[in-house]
Amino acid sequence: MNNGNRNNMNPRDRYYAEMRAADARRAEEARRAAELERRRAAAEERRRRAAAEERRRRHEEMVRRKKRAVYARRALLFAACFLVIFAIVALCVIVSFHMRPIELPGGDDYTFVYGDPDGRDGVKKSPVPAEKFTRGGVRYVDFSELAEYLSMTSVGGSGAFRYVIPGTEEEVRFTDGSEEAFINGETYRMKGKAVVESGSVWVPMSFVTDCMTGVKVTEDEKAQTVGFVASGTLAFTLKKTETLGPIPDGSASGQPSTDDPPEPEFKTDISGYEPYMNPEDRDAYLTLVNPDHPLDKNYKPEDLVSIVNMRQDGQRSEVMREVAEKALEALYIEMYANGFDGLGPSGYPISVMSAYRSYEKQEYLFNLYTQQEMANDPSLSREQAEAIVVTYSCRPGTSEHQTGLCVDMHNLASASEEFANDPAYKWLAENAWKFGFVLRFPKDKQDITKITFEPWHYRFVGRYHAYQMYKSGMCLEEYVASLEGQG
Ligand SMILES: [Zn+2]
Repeated sequence: MNNGNRNNMNPRDRYYAEMRAADARRAEEARRAAELERRRAAAEERRRRAAAEERRRRHEEMVRRKKRAVYARRALLFAACFLVIFAIVALCVIVSFHMRPIELPGGDDYTFVYGDPDGRDGVKKSPVPAEKFTRGGVRYVDFSELAEYLSMTSVGGSGAFRYVIPGTEEEVRFTDGSEEAFINGETYRMKGKAVVESGSVWVPMSFVTDCMTGVKVTEDEKAQTVGFVASGTLAFTLKKTETLGPIPDGSASGQPSTDDPPEPEFKTDISGYEPYMNPEDRDAYLTLVNPDHPLDKNYKPEDLVSIVNMRQDGQRSEVMREVAEKALEALYIEMYANGFDGLGPSGYPISVMSAYRSYEKQEYLFNLYTQQEMANDPSLSREQAEAIVVTYSCRPGTSEHQTGLCVDMHNLASASEEFANDPAYKWLAENAWKFGFVLRFPKDKQDITKITFEPWHYRFVGRYHAYQMYKSGMCLEEYVASLEGQG
């Protein structure tokens, strides 16, 4: 109808109508464009907002993560601090707990009081630092000061000090660094060495209480004082006669013996080891090895077995001859059963550090020690260095370790004369013979063995001969010589 109308219009009306239609079309197009633009803008706005939201979310997440990390670090730090503090406290508790038994009374300085506080005589007080009062667990007294109080005459010089009771023949002689005191010419072994320090002669207190009359000693642990009061006639008297005797050992006779050893008594049942401790062929293990009696370079025992009682530090795998090893097992069973199984300064109980050594190993060690001596003192020639090394190690072929019959054993980090202070050493010195072992390098035989005292070195010879050596106090050199003399 419209078309019909339009067709029926005059040209002018038609022109206007077309113009209106065109306007309407344009308006419609503009409206659509605007609508599209509005939608595009809205979509753009949504995208923008979503992106902003995402950025915000990520930022917050990152902040949260950072915070969590900070908290975690703080918690870790706190835990570490707590652990450290706990460890320190625990250590203190353990240390104080362990220290207590060896803490000296008071732990502080003492005072020596000379004279009777209740009497009319003047009293002299002398402060004593704790480290001078107690040395190696033994109480000491300043003997020079005591002698002065007791009006003794002192004659001293160059390490030896003599004290004489006036008007008598009574005298005592101390030597710096020696346990021996000579009382009226007789030897007495003190419980510690005499120590000379800045003119004062310190000796174990027990010397005064055990070997002197005419002086009363009182100790007040609370007041930390030791009082000395002159009372009665002053004399040096060996009150405890059982402590007298030859220095090496009260039981040592110095004479070869052929008595059968007494039946040893053991705490544990080690009867299964009897054939090893007391071998049927009793003379088979007497081999003497020293610089005068070297072993052949090629000598190697055939019956070497691993040692059960090696130190368990993962560094050792040592061997020795089977019979000696079995006897050693028995020794350890008894020694541990007697309470000597505690951990030593090394953190290990007494254990074997070294046993069989080949000629080559000894050669290596001897060279190593020689080089060390020369490094310590570059002025030494090789010969001079070797002369030093032979006092504590052996030239290859002259070491008893090549026999596979001996061990070095102790509870220290490394072999040291310190071991002689361990109660276990005393037990070994007294009991090793029961298992067929002897202390090979005793302190009082250094001039014969030419080896310094080795409280850690034990040699298997079998019970019969070990007993004879123990009883006579002879070292292997002397004992073998005495057998040759007999035979
Ligand atoms: Zn040794």
